[in-house]
Amino acid sequence: MSLDTMKVSPGFEKYMPIEYQDLVNNGPFGRQVKVTDMGKFKEIIEEHPMCAGCAMALFIRLTMIGLPNPEHTIIVGTAGCGRLAISQAAIPFIYGNYGDTNAVASGLKRGLEIRFPNQKKDVVVMAGDGGLIDIGFQQLMHAWFRQEKFTTIMLDNEVYGNTGGQESGMTMKGKIMKMAPRGKQVDKIDAIGLAKVSKVDYIARLTPTNPSRV
Ligand code: SF4
Repeated sequence: MSLDTMKVSPGFEKYMPIEYQDLVNNGPFGRQVKVTDMGKFKEIIEEHPMCAGCAMALFIRLTMIGLPNPEHTIIVGTAGCGRLAISQAAIPFIYGNYGDTNAVASGLKRGLEIRFPNQKKDVVVMAGDGGLIDIGFQQLMHAWFRQEKFTTIMLDNEVYGNTGGQESGMTMKGKIMKMAPRGKQVDKIDAIGLAKVSKVDYIARLTPTNPSRV
């Protein structure tokens, strides 16, 4: 969980895909990078399997740029579109079961503080709206109420995208989708309001169309 653990072991260079070697050698590690540097280095492997043109893939790339210590960061994710790209970065990725990302991150962060008392290690949960506000709601709220010291990023595309288009708690009221043909009957959950009630330290809502704020 430092740049050394990502580097290709001597003798294995010729077996590793050139894209991975490029990612490790030219990624955002050990230096300051800015959103305006996008395109000059690699955040994730370009051949990730998310849909072409997906705004979420762009947001994930921006998030990778925004990580203050990528070589000392572990990302926890779960089922959903986002993990298809998150797992293509040269940053350790833990695939939690659906719903338990924030419980996994709680234990991981506490364990890292014990194992590395002199080195700050960041834990970031990055999962979709369904994984966090529906299926992972209990773990999400309790991690917030406990004031756990990690970051939670919800990739809110307002739908269960890769299972055909079911409504999630973050879907807008009235929205009609393939698997919700009568339209959503209730309001979008106020996730920001819930975060405020939980007294988390920092709350922000961002969109990839305004990358300079990411
Ligand atoms: S289905 Fe998933 S990967 Fe495809 S455009 Fe929607 S959010 Fe992106």
